[in-house]
This record gives sequence, structure tokens and C-alpha cells, in this order.
Amino acid sequence: MSAAEPPQSANSAPSGGSEAAKPRAWGDHTSANEALFARAQRSIPAGVNSPVRAFRSVGGTPRFIVRGEGPYIFDADGRRYIDYVCSWGPAIAGHAHPAVVSAVQSAAASGLSFGAPTRQEVELAEALIARLPSLELVRLVSSGTEATMSALRLARGYTGRSKIVKFEGCYHGHGDSLLVKAGSGALTFGQPSSAGVPAAIANETIVLPYNDLAAVQEAFAADGDAIAAVIVEPVAGNMNLVLPQPGFLEGLRSVCDRWAAVLIFDEVMTGFRVHPRGAQGRYAITPDLTTLGKVIGGGMPVGAFGGKRAIMEQIAPLGPVYQAGTLSGNPVAVAAGLATLALTEAPGFYDALEGTARSLADGLVEAAKRHNVVFAAQALGGMFGIYFASAVPKSYDEVMACDKTRFNHFFHAMLDAGIYLAPSAYEAGFVSSAHGDAEIDETLAAADRAFAALR
Ligand code: PMP
Repeated sequence: MSAAEPPQSANSAPSGGSEAAKPRAWGDHTSANEALFARAQRSIPAGVNSPVRAFRSVGGTPRFIVRGEGPYIFDADGRRYIDYVCSWGPAIAGHAHPAVVSAVQSAAASGLSFGAPTRQEVELAEALIARLPSLELVRLVSSGTEATMSALRLARGYTGRSKIVKFEGCYHGHGDSLLVKAGSGALTFGQPSSAGVPAAIANETIVLPYNDLAAVQEAFAADGDAIAAVIVEPVAGNMNLVLPQPGFLEGLRSVCDRWAAVLIFDEVMTGFRVHPRGAQGRYAITPDLTTLGKVIGGGMPVGAFGGKRAIMEQIAPLGPVYQAGTLSGNPVAVAAGLATLALTEAPGFYDALEGTARSLADGLVEAAKRHNVVFAAQALGGMFGIYFASAVPKSYDEVMACDKTRFNHFFHAMLDAGIYLAPSAYEAGFVSSAHGDAEIDETLAAADRAFAALR
């Protein structure tokens, strides 16, 4: 075995037994993670296949995960963590849920991919349509990025217009039109915030402040005939967690109606996370198109976009808007999604999930108060936000004003205590149905010590 490979003990990490419940002493062996990270950087840019995994904003060595079980993940050094990233949302039933694993295993045994239709993908499409009344037709893809890119092209093809409105701090995957960040001002023609996005494309994206309906109305008054779509995270989970203020989503609906623009709810993160019918069910707003991902693949690569029949019928081969995928509707991935969605049907599933997220958020606020640390937190469904600020933020600017240095100290204190938070102050947190009282208690005990050290 090369030095860079995980030690035997990591691979044979106990599965949920009493030894698993006892984290090893911290600090005595981080060698396997470090060795893997060094090795990874020789073949992969920054050693990671998605930027935030690199721990650059918090510093330190990323943990290389060997396996997950329920609310826990185990790293290459054999350390156990309570996981509040949950694969950035998909693991709503916890890691390696036996029902999901067995669905994947039996699908895999029948073949991995055919490039021809299968019954299972019809079942997933039906399951999505049954849950979201706004979906009349839905097409499956393999990632959230593909879903949003396809939905935008469709909205442009359907309306014959080219501009789109997005909101500062919302992330919709890495399609060119969507990697645009606003300057200040209510109506801003975007500049690329990623190198490599041609200005001609960025200029078609109008970036506005989240929760600022007046800015949206002004943008439409100036340019409404050219705007194909408004795309929004109905609950923003990519600038930490920011909830829509009363009237914002309703206002987007009526502006889009007035100007015949397509309202796209990007529910890649919120879909089946914040409510059995997504954010659109929770806030009772009907978008024209919805994009999905994460939970609907249960940890496998699945995305989807769907909505009004008249719009969806513009997609090839029914209509002129092209969209395709070799692995779209992949039977193994779809099996994981179907099994995961079935688990969310258990009575009281979402109440329990939100109860867990609330206990965590409330407990963290109390712990911070005990130590006079300026801190706020909130939960919605299976998502939560933690903020080193005196109040829960309602805008991108308020999120940016949170104390990032304090977050980084807190993050590392928690990581050292076996609590795995998102390695960024600007990401929402996630709980699963496998997180129970024991995990919340252990997390709050660790937080109490971490806040004490921050004081
Ligand atoms: N939209 C939203 C709201 C997301 O949170 C994400 C991913 N975090 C995406 C789109 C992109 O999904 P993917 O990473 O699967 O491409």
C-alpha cells in the first residue's frame, strides 16, 4: 500500500457499533487525509472536483470521505463526523440508507445504462408530477446545472426573447448565462463573474438584489419585452440561507404574468427538502417551470426540469428547442431517486425533519447566548442557516456583512469535535431523517465548547 492510501483502519472503520460512536482522539493522525490531498493536487486542480470542497475559504485539509452511514461520515483517518452537509442536500434519508442501497444494487444488476427508454424513468417522472402540481411534463437530466441551462434555453425558445433576470447570491449551476454577478444598482447588465463567459452572453443576464421586488418591477419597466425569464431560488440556499420575504415570490409571479415572461423556480436544493411539494408548495406559488436535482437522485446524478405543457412541448423532438443526454434518466440513478422519494412518504417525515433542524438552530442560538457570542440561526424544512450576525439576514448584503473570521474559527472547532459543517460561511446546512436527538445533543455540546472558545 502506498503511503498516500488510507490506512487499513479507515477502510475497516466500524459500522455504527460502539467503537464508531467514540471518535478517536483528534490531532494524533491526520496523515491519511493530508497524504490524499497532496496526491490529489498532483492530478486534479486544487485536488478537488468541485471548488468548495477544497476548504480554501476556511483553510486546512479537506477530509477524504471513506464511507457514510445514516447521519455519519468517516474520513480516511478513521474519524467519525456528524454530517451537516449531506452531500449538499441529496442525502435526506441519511447516508447509505438500506432501501436506497438495495434499489441501486438491484438496478445495477440489470445493466447500468441503455440509451433507450426504461420503465423506471417513467416512474420517476410520474412521481415528480404527482408531487408538484405545477409539473405537467418533466424531462430528466443528470445534474442541476443541466436542468437550469435547459430551462433557460427553453424559456428563451418559447418566448423568442433573450434576456433573463437572476438574483445576486443565487446559484443556479455553472451555465454561462447564470455565472453572472451584479454590480450595485437596481438594474445592472452583468459582467462575467467567471473568466471565460463571453460578455455577449453575460450582457443578456440582468442581476438584481434578492427580495427586492421594486428592482424587478423597474427592470421589467425598462426592458420587459426582451426578458424571457426570471429564475430564482424560492428559498435562497447558496448565500447561506435567506428566506423569501412576504410578497416577494407572489410579486415575481405577477410581474411575469404581466409581461408574459417565464417564471422559473430553481428547486434543485429546495425540492422535496423544505416541504413535500417543494418551496412552491410551502409558499403556494405556481411557477411556469421548475428545476430539480439533489434529493430526486438520492445521491446519484439526477436532475429534472418541467412545468407547463405548452412550454415543455417546445422541447425536441416535439419542438424546436434542442436538449439531450446520453445518461439522462439513467436507470441506476433513477432507482436511487425513487427509493429516496418513497422514504419521504413516511408519515410525519417532513415534520420530524424540520423539528430536527429547528432543535439544532434553536440550540445553537441558546449556546451562543450563554457565551455572549453575536449569532443567529434559522431552519426551514431540512435546511438551516447559521450566521455570525445579530439577526438573520434578509439580503445578500446582510449575508456578506456576517463575521466570516468567526465562522471559520467555529467551523474548525466543530470539525475538531467531529461535527462536519459546510466549509464556507455562505452555504446552507442540511439535516437528514437519520439525524436524531443523540446527534443534536452531541452537536450542541460541541457548539457550547466552540462558542466558549470564541468569546
Ligand atoms: N441550482 C441550485 C439552487 C443549486 O443549489 C445547485 C447546486 N448546489 C445547482 C443549481 C447546480 O446543481 P449541480 O451542482 O447538480 O449542477
